[in-house]
Amino acid sequence: MLRQYELLERVRAYDPDADEALINRAYVFSMKAHGSQKRASGDPYYSHPIEVAGILTDLRLDDETIATAILHDTIEDTVATPEEVERLFGPNVARLVDGVTKLSKIEAQSENQRAAENLRKFLLAMSGDIRVLLVKLADRLHNMRTLHFIANAEKRRRIARETMDIYAPLAERIGMYEFMTEMQTLAFRELEPDAYQSISKRLEQLHKGGGDLIDRIGRGIRAHLEASGIEAQVQGREKHPYSIWRKMAERHVSFEQLSDVMAFRAIVGTEEDCYRTLGLIHGRWPMVPGRFKDFISTPKRNGYKSLHTSVIHDEQMRIEIQIRTGDMHAQAEHGLAAHWAYKEGKDEAARTQHPWISDLVEILDHAGSAEELLEHTRMAMYQDRIFAFTPKGELIQLPKGASPVDFAYAVHTDLGDQTVGAKVNGRVMPLRTPLDNGDQVEILVSKAQHPQPTWLNFVVTGKAKAKIRRFVKSKEREETIALGRKLFDEIVQRLPVPLGWEAIAEALRRLHLHDDDALMEAIALKRIDDVQVMEALLPGSAGKGQVKPPPQRQAISIKGLTPGVAFTLAECCHPIPGDRIVGLRREGTGIEVHAIGCDRLADGIDADWVDLAWGNESDGGTARLCIVIKNEPGSLAVITSILGNHGANIVSLDQKARDGSFHTFTLGLEVHDVPHLMRILAALRATEVVSTAERI
Ligand code: MN
Repeated sequence: MLRQYELLERVRAYDPDADEALINRAYVFSMKAHGSQKRASGDPYYSHPIEVAGILTDLRLDDETIATAILHDTIEDTVATPEEVERLFGPNVARLVDGVTKLSKIEAQSENQRAAENLRKFLLAMSGDIRVLLVKLADRLHNMRTLHFIANAEKRRRIARETMDIYAPLAERIGMYEFMTEMQTLAFRELEPDAYQSISKRLEQLHKGGGDLIDRIGRGIRAHLEASGIEAQVQGREKHPYSIWRKMAERHVSFEQLSDVMAFRAIVGTEEDCYRTLGLIHGRWPMVPGRFKDFISTPKRNGYKSLHTSVIHDEQMRIEIQIRTGDMHAQAEHGLAAHWAYKEGKDEAARTQHPWISDLVEILDHAGSAEELLEHTRMAMYQDRIFAFTPKGELIQLPKGASPVDFAYAVHTDLGDQTVGAKVNGRVMPLRTPLDNGDQVEILVSKAQHPQPTWLNFVVTGKAKAKIRRFVKSKEREETIALGRKLFDEIVQRLPVPLGWEAIAEALRRLHLHDDDALMEAIALKRIDDVQVMEALLPGSAGKGQVKPPPQRQAISIKGLTPGVAFTLAECCHPIPGDRIVGLRREGTGIEVHAIGCDRLADGIDADWVDLAWGNESDGGTARLCIVIKNEPGSLAVITSILGNHGANIVSLDQKARDGSFHTFTLGLEVHDVPHLMRILAALRATEVVSTAERI
């Protein structure tokens, strides 16, 4: 057990200004409070909080956190009160202890309840002060170290399961890989004792060769390369049993087939050296087929470069080898590990808090409300998460499957709102591209941009969804009002006399509507009909037969638009049902519907693009044809009769060119849909008088 002075010395080593009196007071208080309580191991209970504090000194945490660790079980398990703790240790320590106590209460509840609902509380508590979580993780780690003392097998399993499912992933999530590994190893030993035993045994057998096998193999590789004039730094490591077991389960392979038990890395001078090294290794040891990967000539999407191979080393042992230059190594390490791992600060003795703590707090702070935090932290817990970087190297945490739009919203709401494009690792990529771990993402923005409803098809974070939905809602109202105004103008046109503003104000009063917009909305949503509007504007007008008939409207429906939203079929490409279409939405106008192949789409680069499809009940459109016919008497009559037979109405006919024996016409033709048009074109081409017939 760690003694009082040992604990103090550890803290003093990294933080000479630490409040020793605070830690001493906590030590004495905890010892007295726990009194004669015993651990399952038979040790006095107070040894546990002291050990937890000891674990946290490895992370070089501040005096308040150390005091909190010492006190963490006093409220829950002794007669000590929160008031007492606050009086003796101040408000900060009291708050932290309270946080840890709350987490422990969740732990004490039944499994089912805890599963979803309390995970939430857990995470929310964590967001209050990250130190609460650190104490809790250290607490759990120590409990796992002493798990074997608990006699009740079912209780041991429950604790191990919980460690595997909740605490190890949490430790991983904040970059505490050593915590994670140790928790997983201990939990694995409890949950899969047979697998743990057999893997440990195999690892032991590997070690039986004498001395440190990893070192020996590493030295052998290095010497082999050196003999051919290649200076290499060779690093080796052994996977821990749980990760070996997981690999075996994932790949359905046996221990012997597994090449990841030992992994080596050779760091050499130049790219050329990498390939020479590969050649030398393959020349010395037989390679394992199918395991070689060249990420130098084809880097991973996140820029990762290395050669990967596996060889059968002496004694039929498979080992994995990565070969890279120092630069490639730095780049690979610059990813997650370098930014996140707590090892980062270890050399800088002056710092008492690790940079990743503030990083984490910052990430948590990005969530505006409790609900939002919940929505994306819970996702991050259950799904896998990824980390992507801003161009400045800031780390952004996202759930797996997140798109550049999610990334943008995670950085800042304004950035999300104004997103028009994204560069992923320097290349412009579609906004729906799922991001990978380690991607560097640069968001391209335009002040004129707005959130797009179509983004909802691919965003995964709660924050992005909420922001887009909110905007779409207000946009829908705007569009409804714009449509209403268009319909209102048509109604006004039908009246026999022009109207002034007074008439409209009067109409609003008669219809009990409070303003213009409300009237337009009511018209667009068909809450009031044309006759009601006319009567309100000019009482008695609708009944006297003075009004003009309503203008004909195209009966077209398009999927992807809010019902009632104003749209026009573009004049340049005349899309008809069956064509693949896209909408351009510009500020202050309705949506312009273009055929997907239209040349004019290139002009729409500044507009919002809307994914569209034709509705089922769409009733045709105007197609434009160019036909070349023989200059013969009656040839035009042949054409018109074909069109008549097919039920297609000619809306325009222009002669474009007369070239001796041929005439060229452009033709506007009302057709039902693309198949209808295709039948007409086929019929035209089949006649002798038609030389060519094409859709424009
Ligand atoms: Mn505890």
